[in-house]
Amino acid sequence: MTAVADNVTVHARYAVMAVPPNLYSRVSFVPPLPRRQHQMHQHQSLGLVIKVHAVYATPFWRDKGLSGTCFGAGELVQEVYDNTNHQDPRGTLVGFVSDEKADAMFELSAEDRRRAILSSIAAFLGEEALTPEVYYESDWGSEEWTRGAYAASYDLGGLHRFGPDQLAPVGPIHWSCSDLAAEGYQHVDGAVRMGLLTADRILAAETAEKTTANPGAATAPGQG
Ligand SMILES: Cc1cc2nc3c(=O)[nH]c(=O)nc-3n(C[C@H](O)[C@H](O)[C@H](O)COP(=O)(O)OP(=O)(O)OC[C@H]3O[C@@H](n4cnc5c(N)ncnc54)[C@H](O)[C@@H]3O)c2cc1C
Repeated sequence: MTAVADNVTVHARYAVMAVPPNLYSRVSFVPPLPRRQHQMHQHQSLGLVIKVHAVYATPFWRDKGLSGTCFGAGELVQEVYDNTNHQDPRGTLVGFVSDEKADAMFELSAEDRRRAILSSIAAFLGEEALTPEVYYESDWGSEEWTRGAYAASYDLGGLHRFGPDQLAPVGPIHWSCSDLAAEGYQHVDGAVRMGLLTADRILAAETAEKTTANPGAATAPGQG
């Protein structure tokens, strides 16, 4: 098979698609993928989360005996954590705004959005939260090669309908990303598990091919 990108062309026996399923359609496949794949990929979409970092002169919340971990299902910022770097005298909070609340935030000006988000954090930890030295929003929804956060998931009924086939290779193409990992789904752990699983599957396919071509010459997966 041949993979063609802007500045490189690669010929290989196998390809690993290590991007989330919502991006598969950004790649042109010749010949086209089978119908089942075309249908399945349209039933997976990425969520929307704004990740906010706010850095303060000191971790002021600790002086109040607070850990900095906050949860509020009805709050604009539904989760907050102390994300201070080890041995950094400054204090860093990280917070998350998701789904419809993120939609609403993106309707605001940058200044109003910052004010609303910091006010929500201040409701948990005190008004010192309103005046960080550094304020940064990560907005993956506007990244062309990501398009959202944290992960892709199926629409209603999609996992039941398509799940059994989501890892089935198409010829030499293997699908491998944390979005498809059952255990570790949506986490780095899942990405690593999928990497290991895919490597094993490709080695097994290689071994089977060698065995067919030359019985007795093949080695076990991981030994060849
Ligand atoms: C805000 C946020 C917080 C998170 N927090 C945690 C956490 O605390 N713990 C945890 O375990 N996990 C966390 N995760 C999830 C974790 O980051 C992902 O599950 C993991 O990175 C997915 O790994 P992956 O290799 O499957 O895909 P990715 O890391 O998404 O890698 C895919 C790569 O492919 C590239 N790409 C896309 N299209 C193309 C193309 N056409 N050609 C070439 N390259 C392309 C992308 O740019 C990207 O670099 C978090 C994710 C987010 C967004």
